[in-house]
Amino acid sequence: MIAYIEPYFLDNESDAASVLNVTGKSSDGVSESLNIQGEILCGGAAADIAGKDFGGMNCVKPLAVVRPLGPEDIAGAVRAALSSDKLTVAARGNGHSINGQSMAEGGLVVDMRSTAENHFEVGFLAGDGGGGTAFVDVSGGALWENVLKRCVSEYGLAPRSWTDYLGLTVGGTLSNAGVSGQAFRYGPQTSNVTELDVVTGNGDVVTCSEMENSELFFSVLGGLGQFGIITRARVLLQQAPDMVRWIRIVYAEFDEFTRDAEWLVSQKDESSFDYVEGFVFVNGDDPVNGWPTVPLHPDQDFDPTRLPQSSGSVLYCLELALHYRDSDSNSSVDKRVERLIGRLRFDDGLRFEVDLPYVDFLLRVKRSEEIAKVNGTWETPHPWLNLFVSKRDIGDFEQKVFKELVKNGVGGPMLVYPLLRSRWDDRTSVVLPEGEIFYIVALLRFVPPGAKASSVDKLVAQNQEIVQWCVKNGIDFKLYLPHYKSREEWIRHFGNQWSRFVDRKAMFDPMAILSPGQKVFNRAL
Ligand code: FAD
Repeated sequence: MIAYIEPYFLDNESDAASVLNVTGKSSDGVSESLNIQGEILCGGAAADIAGKDFGGMNCVKPLAVVRPLGPEDIAGAVRAALSSDKLTVAARGNGHSINGQSMAEGGLVVDMRSTAENHFEVGFLAGDGGGGTAFVDVSGGALWENVLKRCVSEYGLAPRSWTDYLGLTVGGTLSNAGVSGQAFRYGPQTSNVTELDVVTGNGDVVTCSEMENSELFFSVLGGLGQFGIITRARVLLQQAPDMVRWIRIVYAEFDEFTRDAEWLVSQKDESSFDYVEGFVFVNGDDPVNGWPTVPLHPDQDFDPTRLPQSSGSVLYCLELALHYRDSDSNSSVDKRVERLIGRLRFDDGLRFEVDLPYVDFLLRVKRSEEIAKVNGTWETPHPWLNLFVSKRDIGDFEQKVFKELVKNGVGGPMLVYPLLRSRWDDRTSVVLPEGEIFYIVALLRFVPPGAKASSVDKLVAQNQEIVQWCVKNGIDFKLYLPHYKSREEWIRHFGNQWSRFVDRKAMFDPMAILSPGQKVFNRAL
């Protein structure tokens, strides 16, 4: 089937009709029609799919949503945009951005989920003699949770590096970084792919890797969708463990928390936990922000009498996990845990743990999603702020932000845990603070249903206040999942990597067709 777009335009959007039409001849220079095998949706149907995102603070009208069958359809959409004088193209993964990053006002949105099943093939890297590193080829539009389930159930294998929540697409997280508690060991997800198929902003379909078209490969990783649309990714795998011991330990003092966290992430492979994260919570009984958020099982209670007298307005929790196999004895697992945990200086009596299957552990945030859907906070706005802060400045940041600005909580998790720069590849488009150790900070704000728009505005303003405070005080930081309104801010964000980013744009998307919602470049006329 060749789907043409014009009939919808005539019904729905008069100015849209001037951009593309059935014969491809239009008043403003489009020379081809959208020659696409997949589906095309316009008007209200397009806005329903691609007019909003998880952030819930932006609302735009796309011209059309394209549901491609494969790379040729995506290239067709890009080429149609190239031959127009104003069309843009945004890949939309699962739309879990916060600030409209996967939107295209008046442009084409490529719904990558329609390609989710296009690839699923497990293989071994060449040169490994057959017994070496396994990989899986998956679609850029696949959800990580489905990649996990298939890899584990069909092969007993699993990707090595994750995000906390897996209702995200492969292409969406690879366009940012993809970070969770395994990243200290394996690096972000962008460090765990060896090959990509990409549709560039020139409309070319290109395979790239470290050895082949390497500039495109590294541009696209962490590239905010600016250089190409990922249609296939080759993701490194490991043997999937059967079980996980999931542990939380509590600290009253930030420097003890950071010292232990940094020690754990700096241990050699295999001599630490398999997952290290941390979060800040309110020292009080608030069910959303305080003590009750720490225990891992309904039978466990947080006993505040165990806290030292000196504890302040907020407390810190290290979250750890150890992988093991069904065949491992309980005592050997206990021994491995105690050997590590015995060196940590958390507050006695404030230790919580459960054993659970590996897949359940990785899908742990799905339960929070279900609860939020029931209580309505999944649909309300999410003015989230994510940053990377250097080890040098995390203490000052903690004093100002956690102890002062958000000391009453944000209605959701406040993550803070260390990562190692050497596990990131500086050839990708991601920018990081200086120094080997830096922290990811995530203020994952949830807003109760019925909250006034002005209260959301206040939260957005507080995010801006935090960023401004960092800038004014010379804090070495970078926004993760960045969102800026001005060119100057983007230049500051990329720092000495700005010219590389611009050069890459000129090479792979010279007309600035792709990912307009990031607001880094304007569509060239
Ligand atoms: P979208 O929001 O749809 O797209 C994001 C950007 O990537 C857009 O610019 C889009 O145009 C571009 N894009 C999408 N698909 C492609 C593609 N195939 N090729 C090229 N560009 C593409 N992040 C973490 O690192 N760790 C976490 O633990 C984590 N947890 C999260 C939990 C929740 C509940 C949410 C909502 C987000 C979380 N994130 C986390 C952030 C998440 O990684 C990003 O928001 C990511 O962009 C979302 O993926 P998506 O598939 O929904 O992408």
